[in-house]
Amino acid sequence: MIDIKDNLAIIKQQIFQACQQSNRCVDDVILLAVSKTKPINLIEQAYQAGQREFGESYVQEAVDKINALTHLSQLNWHFIGPIQSNKTKLIATHFSWVHSVDRIKIATRLNEHRSAQDTPLNVCLQVNISGERSKSGVTVEELPALVEFIDRCENLTLRGLMAIPEKKAEKTSYIKMFELFNMLKLNREKLDTLSMGMSNDLVPAIANGSTMVRVGSAIFGQRE
Ligand SMILES: *Cc1c(COP(=O)(O)O)cnc(C)c1O
Repeated sequence: MIDIKDNLAIIKQQIFQACQQSNRCVDDVILLAVSKTKPINLIEQAYQAGQREFGESYVQEAVDKINALTHLSQLNWHFIGPIQSNKTKLIATHFSWVHSVDRIKIATRLNEHRSAQDTPLNVCLQVNISGERSKSGVTVEELPALVEFIDRCENLTLRGLMAIPEKKAEKTSYIKMFELFNMLKLNREKLDTLSMGMSNDLVPAIANGSTMVRVGSAIFGQRE
């Protein structure tokens, strides 16, 4: 049996130590609990233990969970998976954050589908930092044009950058991401998020400037 509360406490302790070692304030690193493929009762357990930020990767599965959990207040849903354009409406209407925006077409559609009555959708741009062909993410070369575009979208707020660094290039990827993040931050007040680090690399990611770690299996157990 996995104990969600214990797992959350262990992860928080890891975050705390990583922050201490790199002279960072623990409040500057947010824990995003990645609940993809996991049942509603485990999400409720995490909520009961105080967790409020949850990440999902598959749209339909996520929407079903979101609709089943509307009774939990102040819970924030983050979409972190690859985005197909026919799913942008569901994402724009059910989530408060999206970490995986990587092209103008997707940004356009999210902006169109987000109601002007709602708070703007918080957006992180996924950067293909290790330069792998197969992975999603905008290239470093194409990033400035995408940033400029999002800046002009009324229903989107650019909050930062996201990356899933390739294992063998982890260290240089963190450093490059931190540089990009700091550059963008210069003239953007609301830009405060570097979404980097997962169950197996949250400590080095925090040492290299991550402000949000996306942790799944270390909280909810291995996925099938
Ligand atoms: C699944 C997933 C995670 C969580 O991965 P773990 O290794 O289980 O912590 C984080 N980020 C993204 C984008 C994911 O798809």
